[in-house]
Amino acid sequence: MSEQFGSKHQARKRFGQNFLTDDSIIRQIARAIAPKAGERIAEIGPGQGAITAYLLEHCPTLCAIELDRDLVPLLRQKFSGFPDFRIYQSDALNFDFKSLLESPEEKLRIVGNLPYNISTPLIFHILGFENAVKDMHFMLQKEVVDRLAATAGTKSYGRLSVMAQYRCDVESLFDVAPESFRPIPKVISSIVRMTPFTQRPAVAHNEYHFAELVKMAFQQRRKTLRNAIKPLLHDLDENAINVDLGRRAEQLTVSEFVSLSNGMQKHD
Ligand code: SAH
Repeated sequence: MSEQFGSKHQARKRFGQNFLTDDSIIRQIARAIAPKAGERIAEIGPGQGAITAYLLEHCPTLCAIELDRDLVPLLRQKFSGFPDFRIYQSDALNFDFKSLLESPEEKLRIVGNLPYNISTPLIFHILGFENAVKDMHFMLQKEVVDRLAATAGTKSYGRLSVMAQYRCDVESLFDVAPESFRPIPKVISSIVRMTPFTQRPAVAHNEYHFAELVKMAFQQRRKTLRNAIKPLLHDLDENAINVDLGRRAEQLTVSEFVSLSNGMQKHD
C-alpha cells in the first residue's frame, strides 16, 4: 500500500514520518483497535494511510488529522471511495477534537502512530478532555509506553505514569520492531491502549494542586517527599498529612498521591 505513494512522497524527518510497511503488524494494530461502524474515530497522522485503510473498512466515518499538507491530496485520492472520510490538514497539538463530536453523549476513539517528538504533549492535550474520549490507541516509542504503564516502585514510574493512570486504565499491548517501518527508526515501538475511567478510582479535590504536587515530587525523585515538595508544604502540620513524607515520589501509588494532595488541601 505504501509503495503506491513511494515515488511521490519522500518521508520527512521534521514531521516524524516513519511509515508502517509491515502488513501483519498493521493488521494486528487494526485488530487491537477493533473499529466498528457508527463509531467516531479520529486518526492522528495517517501518513500514507497504512492504518487508515484498515480502519475505514470497518468504520467509514473516520476523521484524520494530518499536518503534512503534501499528504492530504494523496490521502483524499486514495480514499475517494469513502465519502464519509474527512481529513483535516491541521496540527493535532492544537486541534479541537471535541469539535468532531455531534452530540454530548458521543465519545471519540483516538488512534495514531504518533510522531515521537510530540507524543507526550499530545497525550497531555488529549487528557485535558478525556471525558469526551472512549479510548486511545497509540504507537509510541517503547520507552514512553513503559513510562505510561509503569507501576509504583519501578524505574519507569514517574509524572507521566501518575498523570495518565489518574485518568485512564493504561495497557501496554505489544512491541513493534524498527524493521516494520520505512524509514527504519532507531528505537523499538509499542502499542498502548488508554481507556479513560468513567469513574475514577481516586478523585483529587483540586486537580490543579494534584498536578503541581506530582510535577514537583518527581522533579527531584531521589529526594524524600518532605524535601522535594517543601515549597508546597508551607507551615502544614506533617502529622495531619495521611502519607509518610519520608518516602520518595517513585514509591507512591496514584491513589496515595491523590490522598496526599487531598490531605494537604484540607489543611491549607
Ligand atoms: N500512520 C502512518 C504515519 C505515521 S508517521 C503510518 O503508520 O504509516 C507520523 C505521521 O504524523 C506523519 O504522517 C506526519 O506527517 C504526521 N504528523 C506529524 N506531526 C503531526 C502533528 N503535529 N499533527 C498531525 N499529524 C502530524
